[in-house]
Amino acid sequence: MTQTTASPDDTGAEVRAYSSREHHLGAVFEAVLTRGPLSRRDAARLTGLSAASVTKLVKPMISHGYLIENVREAGVPGRPQIPLQVDASRHHAVGIKLMDGEIVGVVADLHAEVQSAHRMKYRDTTPEGVVSAIDEMTGILLQRTPVKRERLLGIGIGLGGHVNGATGVVVESPFLGWHDVPLRRLVVERMNLPVVIENDVNTLAVAEQWFGAGSSFPSFALVTIGVGVGCALVLDGQLWRGVSGAAGEFGHMVVDPEGPECHCGKRGCLEAVVGDAAIAGAMSAAAGRRITKVSQVVARAHAGDLDAQQVFTQAGLALGRAIAALLNLLNPPLVILSGEGITASDLFIDALRAELDRDAFSTTAGDCTVLVRPLPDETWARGAAATMLRHGVLRSLSRLTQQVQS
Ligand SMILES: [Zn+2]
Repeated sequence: MTQTTASPDDTGAEVRAYSSREHHLGAVFEAVLTRGPLSRRDAARLTGLSAASVTKLVKPMISHGYLIENVREAGVPGRPQIPLQVDASRHHAVGIKLMDGEIVGVVADLHAEVQSAHRMKYRDTTPEGVVSAIDEMTGILLQRTPVKRERLLGIGIGLGGHVNGATGVVVESPFLGWHDVPLRRLVVERMNLPVVIENDVNTLAVAEQWFGAGSSFPSFALVTIGVGVGCALVLDGQLWRGVSGAAGEFGHMVVDPEGPECHCGKRGCLEAVVGDAAIAGAMSAAAGRRITKVSQVVARAHAGDLDAQQVFTQAGLALGRAIAALLNLLNPPLVILSGEGITASDLFIDALRAELDRDAFSTTAGDCTVLVRPLPDETWARGAAATMLRHGVLRSLSRLTQQVQS
């Protein structure tokens, strides 16, 4: 068996484009991972490749232990098919969701099943302080599992803001007050393990794509609401990052040029109209006294306070208008709505759907399922681990391409 664990400096280079053969290997592997156990015939059907190509592609994946052959399927007519599945214990990764003052971490196997999880506070928001907290978190997680550090494929880190996964640089992170911090390099230097960094909503989208509501859709959008408004796009099976990782900055679409100021410097961004601070601000204005927590507004609305209900109706309309623009642009079959703000979804979803039906072009609203999905912080961290697993496995598989017969 060859050494397939990536070395730490592997992730220091710019992410390069994969060749079509690497792409096919990755597609077959992901099909077996997300839909397996799977016969070669079904893998061919799901990937659009020929059965002969799939047979050639899986050979090195079996000989290197990424895939294992299951017992024969009984009772299937025609030639017996041997289902393939991924060897879950072959690789593990740490996934981290970095939040304001708090970190959530998990260790996940190759099926992205969580082996251990931990949550801890941190105070020092300097790059050095955050790297120390990530190091401490990894140590605690590993103490709680039999997974050896040498068997770790690496660490996936998700955080809010403009994160350039290709260069490993946090371009802008308002909650940390960071600008152009080379976080990936700093963590690699400290921990001597491969590292990927990614916008946290993107990591959640990877979680949904691999083992969540997005697994049966080639394309979908994920919109998160809460303190901020985030968005991730999976298009034809690929996470769409844009040229510098800033794709999906849906929260900074201007929906009301006369609206409240946004922390980004503009006025009337979606986030400044429907984010937590905006909800509390609108309620304060209506009530004539300062209200700081969204939970108070939710409680008032549930108790029948018409002003509070109106605050959520207005937020639903603004969200609906913005999501209609997303439908007009992408015509997706699925929009997943998540984030801590959806605890109030019963108060705004009707207004959102009505506005979507009014604003979206032609059949785009009817074509799209809008799904409200509560996803805990651990799922975001699990997605960060899945992002690392995907990156690491695809790199390892790319080394196997020389062994695929042409
Ligand atoms: Zn803004």
